[in-house]
Amino acid sequence: MSRITSPSYVSAVMKRRGFSTKKRFGQNFLIDQNIVDRIIQCANLQAGEWALEIGPGLGALTVHLGELADHAVAIEIDTVLVDILRDTLDSDGITIWSGDALEEDWEEILRSCGWQGQPLKLVANLPYYLTTPLIMKALESELPFASLVVMVQKEVALRMQASPGSKDFGVLSLAVQYYSECRLVMNVPRTVFIPAPAVDSAVVELLPRAPEVDAPREELFAVIRAGFGQRRKTVRNALKPLADDWGITPEQLDQAFLQAEIDSAQRAEKLSLEDFSRLTKELLKGV
Ligand code: SAM
Repeated sequence: MSRITSPSYVSAVMKRRGFSTKKRFGQNFLIDQNIVDRIIQCANLQAGEWALEIGPGLGALTVHLGELADHAVAIEIDTVLVDILRDTLDSDGITIWSGDALEEDWEEILRSCGWQGQPLKLVANLPYYLTTPLIMKALESELPFASLVVMVQKEVALRMQASPGSKDFGVLSLAVQYYSECRLVMNVPRTVFIPAPAVDSAVVELLPRAPEVDAPREELFAVIRAGFGQRRKTVRNALKPLADDWGITPEQLDQAFLQAEIDSAQRAEKLSLEDFSRLTKELLKGV
């Protein structure tokens, strides 16, 4: 049990430091120790592992990461919070890094803290305005993440896990599922934060693994993005501009659908990652 999640602690620190939460940084602090405990349990940090946290806030998760991991590195953009954290958290085993997690080079930060390639876990209650770019940065990085346990908006969690045909299925589902297994850990009501956000949240666990499809990544995602770029069109018509860019004729485009055994009159949201991979490989034959 940590006092950091007690509402009276949060109000007292904020008052003492003259700190008000900043909407532009997505600051919603966790004030429910049960939720914190479940996130920490899910991360299941083992001896020898390092933790990376994005947006430690007042340290609700950080304090536990520092106790359980060999070392915890927490990147915080708000310099007032950085000062508070450096004063209030026992600095042994925890580095509070002042910076913008989207811009900073995570490997460089970790190495400067003594990291030498040990297994790594990302644990975070992510700022909502940056959820998708931060998750994609983690998944696309070369860092050896054993898992990512992250709190996100509930609607984003649904999109990450969605299957073809569902209304939530889209580029984010395909991107997350390309790089990892995604599991919903729990739903989290908006009432467990100060201030309460406008939407409910969810904790998801992503387990990175090698992609299960073999189309070249850049071209695959160009096809996926083009397919979903014009959601109301059939996937064939949505892909037409990309095919033109790649110098693929309309006949070759139709042929690629035929060879990949995909009905070109469907909408992109019906196609699985495997379908997109087969289609991409067929399209590349015409390039
Ligand atoms: N981890 C804390 C908790 O659970 O109570 C705070 C979570 S709050 C949703 C998001 C945190 O991310 C805030 O502390 C905010 O200042 C920080 N943040 C926002 N944008 C950031 C960025 N680009 N880089 C690093 N931290 C950022």
